[in-house]
Amino acid sequence: MSVNKALLLLIEDDPQFQMLLSTTLENQGYQIVTATTGKEGLIVVRNQQPNLIVLDLGLPDIDGQEVIRSLRKWSEIPIIVLSARHQENEITQALDNGADDYLTKPFSTAVLISRIKALLRRVTKIPGGSQEYFQVGEIKIELTKRLVLVGEREVSLTPIEFKLLSILIRHAGFVVTHRQLLEQVWGASYIEHSHYLRIYMGHLRHKLEADPARPKYLLTEAGVGYRLQDGG
Ligand code: CA
Repeated sequence: MSVNKALLLLIEDDPQFQMLLSTTLENQGYQIVTATTGKEGLIVVRNQQPNLIVLDLGLPDIDGQEVIRSLRKWSEIPIIVLSARHQENEITQALDNGADDYLTKPFSTAVLISRIKALLRRVTKIPGGSQEYFQVGEIKIELTKRLVLVGEREVSLTPIEFKLLSILIRHAGFVVTHRQLLEQVWGASYIEHSHYLRIYMGHLRHKLEADPARPKYLLTEAGVGYRLQDGG
């Protein structure tokens, strides 16, 4: 699949906003197909097999969450959700249901375009997902050797810190929710213990960031989770 020829499905019930987004994305060379309800969106996915979905969570018929849940039963298509501001619960739920990323309205179309590009790149790049070596900016991690470097400097991490960093770096550029991190690092019975995350993210920032108070890589997504950003 050529990234530029990718077919994007836009599920959005606001006609003006849909028009604006369609035009912007078409100008980037993408092919666009649109739906204004959740049910219509699900039909379009089956019939036209788009490469990525931009999904508004507030739809007139079925809830955006329902759209994600029913898609994830049979499809791994990348999904970016759009949400109104200050709806952190909605966003977290959408990500836990299987959405890949989110934007809150109003957002810059430049950011939307870069998120779309990143997701399409990820889909084309990692067929088996069995990569052993990751690099984000100055941070390098070798999973089998359990080796972490910042530039040339080797950094010693505890097992928990290493596990946390390896999850974030596998999802580099994308948000990972509190629940996903707690579940994968500590286990399902720890999903309420988000203070663990704050403590261990603090440790990681002290070990990996030049200025832990103003992190360049380990970013907080308020109320939602964390994102390891390529600080380069
Ligand atoms: Ca809407």
